[in-house]
Amino acid sequence: MTKTEPGPDLETRKSAFRISKDPLVVLGLVILVIGIVLTAYGLIPLQTANYQQIASGPVPITDAAGNFITDPSAYYQAHYNGTGSLDTVDCSPSVNGYICYGFQFIGTSTTFNQSAREYGFGLMVVGVLGIYGGNRLEPLKPRPKHERPITIRIDEDICVANGVCVGLAPTVFQLKKQETPSIFAPLAYVIDPYGADNDSIIQAAEMCPTGAIIIEDAETGERIHPPLPDY
Ligand code: SF4
Repeated sequence: MTKTEPGPDLETRKSAFRISKDPLVVLGLVILVIGIVLTAYGLIPLQTANYQQIASGPVPITDAAGNFITDPSAYYQAHYNGTGSLDTVDCSPSVNGYICYGFQFIGTSTTFNQSAREYGFGLMVVGVLGIYGGNRLEPLKPRPKHERPITIRIDEDICVANGVCVGLAPTVFQLKKQETPSIFAPLAYVIDPYGADNDSIIQAAEMCPTGAIIIEDAETGERIHPPLPDY
């Protein structure tokens, strides 16, 4: 009698793999997608205009005619008499009006959003860990209170591979796949002991014609199915 493990061949293992709907996995997927988008944004080259400051000076609150100056940048640019082109002006309020700073365009440079890349990569790592952790921890999650923790084994010596259990509980049982033709039929194995509720699993075990599915209480080891003979 052997304890069932996932099938031995890679294809079988792949078919047994599934992304669970565990909240941690879903959250991990969302975080992973955000991380990918953020990282992709961080890889886009950005053209940045560079300026150097070439002048600064005060701008009064009112002009010579006593009108309030509503656009100090334009005023400063209009009255600028220095050398070099004032490509942009930045003004801020001061005690007697404004202080303006003039800048000259000196070219563009290519930059990348480093923060987006770093945050994006970090989120991708967190997302992958969430997906991995959610899948790994799902079988360890406490079962519903009404569910008795069970272990499922298949006696490969008496399994006749007719697939009844697979038909009744395909999320729990599957038949091993064969890489090469064999005179031996593919035996059943357990892909996910938590793939269905206990009643469905026990029902599938009861329908096994040879009694090859053995179910025991995971904590006490008590036989649940098939019943032990009375001596
Ligand atoms: S029902 Fe029983 S005999 Fe048939 S495949 Fe499943 S374990 Fe094997």
